[in-house]
Amino acid sequence: MLIKILVVEDSATDRLIIKNMLSEYTVLTACDGVEAMRMLEEHEGINIMIVDLNMPSMDGFQVLEALKKDERYQDVRIIILTNYDELDNEIRGLKLGAIDYIRKPIHMYSLKARIDVHAALLRAEHALKQKLAEQTLSFDMLFDQAPVGISISHNWYPQGSDEAVVRINPMYEQITGRTKEELVKLGWAKITHPDDLEEDLENFRRLQAGEIKDYSMEKRIIKPDGSVVWVSMIVAALSPMGKDQVNHICILQDISERMQMEMERKYLTEHDRLTGLYNRDYLVSLLDKDIKLKKQCKKALIGIDLSKIHLLTVNYGFQYTQNLIKKTAEAFLQLCADNRLLFHIHENHFVFYIFDYRDRSELATFGKRIAATLESLFVTERIGGGIGIVEFAQDQGDENVDSLLRRLLITTERSGNPVGNEFEIRFYDEEVEALVNWERDVAEALDAVATGNPANDYLYVMYQPIIDLKTGSVWGFEALARLKTDKLGLVPPVKFIPLAEKTKLILPIGEKVLVQVFRFLNRLKEQGYGDINVSVNISAIQLLQPDFPGRLFELMRQMQVNPNNVGIEITESVFASDYEHINIILGELKNAGIHIAIDDFGTGYSSLARERELIVDCVKIDKYFIDKLLDLDPSKAITSDIISMSHKMGHSTVAEGVENETQMQLLKEYSCDRIQGYLISEPLQEEEAIKFLQTYVKM
Ligand code: C2E
Ligand code: CA
Ligand code: CA
Repeated sequence: MLIKILVVEDSATDRLIIKNMLSEYTVLTACDGVEAMRMLEEHEGINIMIVDLNMPSMDGFQVLEALKKDERYQDVRIIILTNYDELDNEIRGLKLGAIDYIRKPIHMYSLKARIDVHAALLRAEHALKQKLAEQTLSFDMLFDQAPVGISISHNWYPQGSDEAVVRINPMYEQITGRTKEELVKLGWAKITHPDDLEEDLENFRRLQAGEIKDYSMEKRIIKPDGSVVWVSMIVAALSPMGKDQVNHICILQDISERMQMEMERKYLTEHDRLTGLYNRDYLVSLLDKDIKLKKQCKKALIGIDLSKIHLLTVNYGFQYTQNLIKKTAEAFLQLCADNRLLFHIHENHFVFYIFDYRDRSELATFGKRIAATLESLFVTERIGGGIGIVEFAQDQGDENVDSLLRRLLITTERSGNPVGNEFEIRFYDEEVEALVNWERDVAEALDAVATGNPANDYLYVMYQPIIDLKTGSVWGFEALARLKTDKLGLVPPVKFIPLAEKTKLILPIGEKVLVQVFRFLNRLKEQGYGDINVSVNISAIQLLQPDFPGRLFELMRQMQVNPNNVGIEITESVFASDYEHINIILGELKNAGIHIAIDDFGTGYSSLARERELIVDCVKIDKYFIDKLLDLDPSKAITSDIISMSHKMGHSTVAEGVENETQMQLLKEYSCDRIQGYLISEPLQEEEAIKFLQTYVKM
């Protein structure tokens, strides 16, 4: 800091002496008061004046008085020069604003020492001021430009008050959509969402009572236009407060965007996209919570199974059935009430969760309402479905969501009449319970098989011969899986395959079947039967798993199996899921040389029109149509039509379940390509199958 000293002295010698003595500072001189005042005007930054009291034309007192009146010179430090016998003058000078005096005759070293002290003081004061200025500057800047809303307040009550002293930054005004004045007058309770107010007020009460030092919460603020802003808020006490004193700082951050995203995410995780209804995950979490809370009221689930809607997909397309599901959801919504919640837990499954009902008959009546709703909706579609009702265990503490939902699913599935177009209602009962237990046992056995658990449960494959009707020789075999367990004995595939599909265990199980089949094919090759084929049943789930063809090719490569010896059989129902996607997969398999057959052709999903579009080699005509051949008038059976239609489309035909000569003769007449059935042979163990090839005599 530059120290500028103005020496006002009429004695030229004294002026000179003083100037020399203070040569380290910038020293200006004036010979009287008038000149001094002019020098002050002309030179900026004079911070110390040494003023002689006795001077002609405007003495020291007059200078002091003039300086005192002028705002600009308030910070100038004035030191007066007095004579040793002028005590009165000294006092008068000090009163007029001088801060120090030096007596004449001047003792030069003491003058220098005094001035040095004043200079040091000035420098310290200057440094302090600068620091202070910097501090207020950065605080103000921070306050004004902070990206968070800040209020610092004294006595600002929830309901607003006149005594409030509040500092509010621009961001606070922006977030709340109100000016500082409005906010102070309104208080903060009125701008807080009613649902968040109670918590806020309670926190504030505890803060005031000194129970807590600060609190934070996420709350909603209501803007003047009624819109809502989500904020994350921290409120802290600033200094110890008197009983009714409120000093606090509040920091707000606008988190509306994050909350919006969070709410969307929550919505998506809890709701089903298609219908907008609550989904399975939400049902599970709700049941979990309710069971834990053991709400002591009656609770039940009603499941609605509409899986037969698949039948419509084949003929009318995916979009059509999706719309039907949406319509069903809308109709069901009309049946909801405070104690009846609706969920869409799976493509074709709805669930009502009912609590606080009177008794079983109330459930039955409601079940009938559901049935009536469905019947009116599906009257033209002519499909039926099942309605299953499961009440929670009496002692709800023993209840578990998984088993509850399993019971519901089985009851619901059991309730549907497989062919009719009614909607039947069934309560969970002992019969269903036995089934639930049986299914659990089978699922456990499948799981053990899938994980390679070396228990006594095992999976093996039987082979049923397929004969070429034109040449009379063996075309190959169909591979048919078998499950044998200690507890359940032999479980037929019609029982365990659907369960394996439901539990997705069909993936590892299916792979195990393929490995056994490929081993069998290698055995056949070793024994000189390299042209014998084996056809394997493949479920839709297997086909639709990511990169099924890739995995299959890799397995064939590893086990050195020729794709030309491998066939796969898929049921028509596969096409109900995603027709085009399935066709792409089939195309890949066919290109690799794998033989593709549609199984059970003619049952349920039958659509000859669609058959044309399918990438397949062969049609396996269901046993139903083979049995029909034995009816009184064989010319009425459409079996021959199916065969000739298939041929027109370039597909070969296999007749399934051929049990007697008459059927075979007719099939020959109709130019069916191959046959399979008890007439030729039942499914055989590996050894027997090889023996069959060795002893087979061409027909
Ligand atoms: P499918 O593919 O239609 O198999 C034909 C079924 O008819 C077999 O029953 C077979 O034993 C039986 N059968 C064969 N010839 C005759 C006959 O002349 N008369 C009568 N009444 N029945 C005959 P199985 O072995 O019980 O298989 C039932 C179903 O289980 C199969 O029907 C197939 O859909 C499924 N399946 C079997 N193994 C597998 C597998 O490894 N994977 C998959 N995904 N499904 C399989
Ligand atoms: Ca088959
Ligand atoms: Ca079949």
